[in-house]
Amino acid sequence: MPRREGVHGGGKRRGEREYSDLGIILRSYKLGESDKILRVLTREHGKRSAVAKGVRKTTSRFGARLEPLTMARMMLHVGRSMDTVKQVEIETSFREVREDLDLFFHASAMVEMVDGVTQEHEPHPELFDLLLRGLELLKEFPVRALFITSFFGFKVMAAAGYDLRVDSCANCGGAPGGGDASFSLHLGGLVCDSCKGGRYREVGRLITVRAPSAGLLSWMSLHGFGEWPEEPPALATQRELGMLMDRVLEHWMEREFKSRRVMREMPGGGGGRAKGG
Ligand SMILES: [Zn+2]
Repeated sequence: MPRREGVHGGGKRRGEREYSDLGIILRSYKLGESDKILRVLTREHGKRSAVAKGVRKTTSRFGARLEPLTMARMMLHVGRSMDTVKQVEIETSFREVREDLDLFFHASAMVEMVDGVTQEHEPHPELFDLLLRGLELLKEFPVRALFITSFFGFKVMAAAGYDLRVDSCANCGGAPGGGDASFSLHLGGLVCDSCKGGRYREVGRLITVRAPSAGLLSWMSLHGFGEWPEEPPALATQRELGMLMDRVLEHWMEREFKSRRVMREMPGGGGGRAKGG
């Protein structure tokens, strides 16, 4: 989506004490009697925590609608530990997605992935655009939700710098071979018949991937998010792919979190998966 300029006086900066940006609400928490804490993925300013004061009062103009998945242009004031929401103009609330249990489940999985791979205050416009597109696709093509979410996971990992190797063996670079394939979580890709033998300890534990799912993985690496295979994938294939992507993401995020924790040397800190919300 094209970048838009600030609508409130051109997004005045004043030494970055205030800023205007597009944001998608990832989570919201109640605070006290009438406030909310929002976790927002902004397009240009990264993931932020912001308090929205008085929004749970019945007289609040926008409060009731500041729900997860809502995309809005926001004016935020930078605080010491948390930003403060000054103004909100809701662009879309994705109500259709939030009010459908199945779609909401898929959208929540997308939000969790993005939340998991981002760090606070680290701008990542590509991930913002990807999440927005993902939510739009769920709304437009609800019957494709399963495939869209798998494809989204694939692209999130690529955007975060982790390309799955699905066109050649992740161990030796050779041809992956026909028929059912084997996926190495450790190497993040398919491994060929000769590498899946016990001689190569580095491939780790392998997951069997049936040929149609392996083909779909390869298709994903060659196509843009939002495209749809000419031959619609069978439901069983979509399910298998969904389960594989879940395991890949889980494995990868856990590894990322561990390395982040070590890097930051923050006891008990460093992006664990969000609780509550
Ligand atoms: Zn190989």
